Amino acid sequence: MGPVAGTRDADVVVVGAGIAGLCAARALRAAGNEVIVLEARDRVGGRVWNTEVLGQPQELGGQWVAPYQTEMHALLAELGLELFHAYRDGDRVFVDADGTAHRYVGHDAPLGSAAERSYASAAAALDALAAEIDPEAPWDHPRAAELDATSFEAWLHTEVEDDLARDLLRAYLSGGYMTKPSHTFSLLGGLWTIAGAGGVENLFEPDLCLHSRVVGGSQLLPIRIAEALGHRVVLGAPVRSIRWGQDGVTVATAGARMHAGQAVIAIPPNLTGTIRFDPPLPPWRFRAEQGISQGSVIKVLAVYERPFWREEGLSGEGFAPYGFVREVYDNSPPGGEPGVLVSFLAAERCEQAERMSPDARRDAILDGLARLVGDRARSPVDVLEVDWSAEEWTRGAYSATFEIGGLTRFGADLRRRIGPLHWACTDISGVGNMHMEGAIRSGKAAAAAVADTR
Ligand code: FAD
Repeated sequence: MGPVAGTRDADVVVVGAGIAGLCAARALRAAGNEVIVLEARDRVGGRVWNTEVLGQPQELGGQWVAPYQTEMHALLAELGLELFHAYRDGDRVFVDADGTAHRYVGHDAPLGSAAERSYASAAAALDALAAEIDPEAPWDHPRAAELDATSFEAWLHTEVEDDLARDLLRAYLSGGYMTKPSHTFSLLGGLWTIAGAGGVENLFEPDLCLHSRVVGGSQLLPIRIAEALGHRVVLGAPVRSIRWGQDGVTVATAGARMHAGQAVIAIPPNLTGTIRFDPPLPPWRFRAEQGISQGSVIKVLAVYERPFWREEGLSGEGFAPYGFVREVYDNSPPGGEPGVLVSFLAAERCEQAERMSPDARRDAILDGLARLVGDRARSPVDVLEVDWSAEEWTRGAYSATFEIGGLTRFGADLRRRIGPLHWACTDISGVGNMHMEGAIRSGKAAAAAVADTR
């Protein structure tokens, strides 16, 4: 690789054109910097990715926007994008441990009074702990080491008396967000995600966390930002190596080499090791990456000519904590047709699904959907599945999280600037972490850090 010194192609090179990298580039451009964004894929957006289903936009990655995600709402307004309310009129369905389906109205599944009391008190305990945590620095909590040494599963066993309440909380946090088995992440890790969303209700109540979707699909956000950046965004350009020093950075792809003063590396932290750094990154940075991994999730879209469940008074929303398919939502476009159900096979369910044949997996998915919304779910027009672990430039989802004890040991390190190298992505953000909101905040924070470094 050539010397770092030389004519500069840009003030800042951004690696990765996900929401974080593009928000960094947008803020840097607004401050008058020349930027180049190098993106490995042949599209922008990373973990947000639009597709079309029977002529209507659908999302294969991140999609829902919550009312409390303030940066997200501000960015949508700046880009001229609109939201529509996710459909959830009608009854919900809860499938219990015996496989019996219960229809219910409103927020709370009919668990029985003992489980309801136990769930409410455990959720309140989680909320109280999360309220003590600064989402920007969870490692600073006075009991951080203790909370990080306790697995979420161990906490469930000690603190939650009722089996059903425990199973539900596990399904919601482990299956719904961490996308890892509950014995593999710490209580502190879980609390960080809760704190990042502003509390348990914000994270677990579909009317809040799954409130709205972007008209035209969420990938329009990065697409609009990239359009404004124009030729500065280079697709199909995986960064292979970065030479860095006092004089700046030289970033190399297979076909080109760019010189710049600083770099914002906006890729998931589990992928940092795919780039060769010269000189090597400090040892603590390499160690940090070895303690973090993506969760496992397969996103499923089942397509029907019409949202048949609505005709039966169902919202399309259902929960089956003991089922192969644990959750389902109506994901039909604003006009209502085609009917689309969305589900996620996460954590153990994802690992199980990955070992099944495609046919067996599809049968199990359709069976699970039928238990939640009725037998007509067995006859879709199409079923789309994306296993995010198979995506070379992500390797899992929704977010990279630490093994037990890793957040306190290495969490702060992942954000630490190393000479001219700055870091961004949702996985290392505070407020909104794991979500598009966190990616926006992280990108803007990296741009501000670049300005501070001059
Ligand atoms: P990424 O999107 O991962 O961007 C990183 C970019 O870096 C990618 O484009 C990648 O291709 C690129 N890259 C990697 N390596 C290199 C390299 N060597 N050289 C160049 N480029 C490289 N969030 C929500 O808010 N609401 C939701 O409903 C929601 N649901 C989700 C459902 C699924 C199935 C998934 C996968 C995610 C979901 N999320 C959701 C999370 C949300 O999508 C992410 O938080 C957000 O998109 C992450 O953005 P990012 O820029 O931090 O990272």
